[in-house]
Amino acid sequence: AAKAAGSQLMVYHADLDERADETARLGADLRHSLDDGDFHVVYQPIVELRTGRVRACEALVRWRHPVRGFVSPADFVPVAEDNGLIVELGEFVMRTSCHRFAAWRRELGADAPSYISVNVSARQLSEPGFPTVVAGIIAEAGMEPAQLLVEVTETALFGGGTAVQAVETLHGAGVGIALDDFGTGHSSLGLLRTVPVDVLKVDKSFVDEIIEGGGRAVIVDALIHVSKGLGLRAVAEGVETAEQAAYLRDLGYEFAQGYFFGRPVPDPDFTGNGQVLAAG
Ligand code: C2E
Ligand code: CA
Ligand code: CA
Ligand code: CA
Repeated sequence: AAKAAGSQLMVYHADLDERADETARLGADLRHSLDDGDFHVVYQPIVELRTGRVRACEALVRWRHPVRGFVSPADFVPVAEDNGLIVELGEFVMRTSCHRFAAWRRELGADAPSYISVNVSARQLSEPGFPTVVAGIIAEAGMEPAQLLVEVTETALFGGGTAVQAVETLHGAGVGIALDDFGTGHSSLGLLRTVPVDVLKVDKSFVDEIIEGGGRAVIVDALIHVSKGLGLRAVAEGVETAEQAAYLRDLGYEFAQGYFFGRPVPDPDFTGNGQVLAAG
């Protein structure tokens, strides 16, 4: 569109305009899809490495766009954060997954996961009534606060302020707090002193360092010491191979999550006891 001037700058501006249009379109579509019920929630198992048993699961939102089909949350969550719709969308995810979790507990008894992990964005955390909304959902679902783990990123807490207060309020009410993508954001270690945290989710990029026949994976090794030293639970993310799972287990990781154990699905089977590692 900006060819006329032949300048790179003009072309660049045209690209930016197109991207802004695309973002605005996606934003408007999000609004319609919230009203039309095009969102749903899938659940990925979190497994105890020693036994292969599914101990928990993480709720992940999915969008079936009426025209484009499946759109990745990596593409639409940032848009929903920018236009504020993440507040409504996030509440939908929280309510859906808490009710689902409570149903599993009723139906499956000892086979049911012991907690549900739900992602919460910076914008949701900064919303004044957020802890009250969460408390309401927990009560309405008939679950214990400790059966909910809220996953927040270091970046969401970086600014301090309302987001950190919300985390403190939730934690005070008994809700678990996980730092998501741990090690990839700002000031990771400093945050652990100022924010109440129960779980470190060790980012996939560090698990990726564990390659077949490779040497030491330095960061996953360091982070298990950090989490044990501070009395936190560590969950390794993005485990794709048996070798990675065995390596993490041998380092002392208790919990892991990844395609090796199971992809996120609408209806996980918790009775199959997951993927068991060979002893060793
Ligand atoms: P995340 O919270 O770090 O979630 C983990 C992502 O890694 C998920 O992608 C999951 O499907 C993917 N994953 C899990 N195991 C593996 C593996 O072994 N290999 C690979 N390659 N990927 C794996 P997904 O569902 O596409 O979500 C992407 C991101 O979008 C999430 O990253 C999270 O930041 C955001 N997100 C997803 N659902 C929600 C939500 O309900 N609320 C908010 N605020 N953000 C969400
Ligand atoms: Ca997460
Ligand atoms: Ca993560
Ligand atoms: Ca991530």
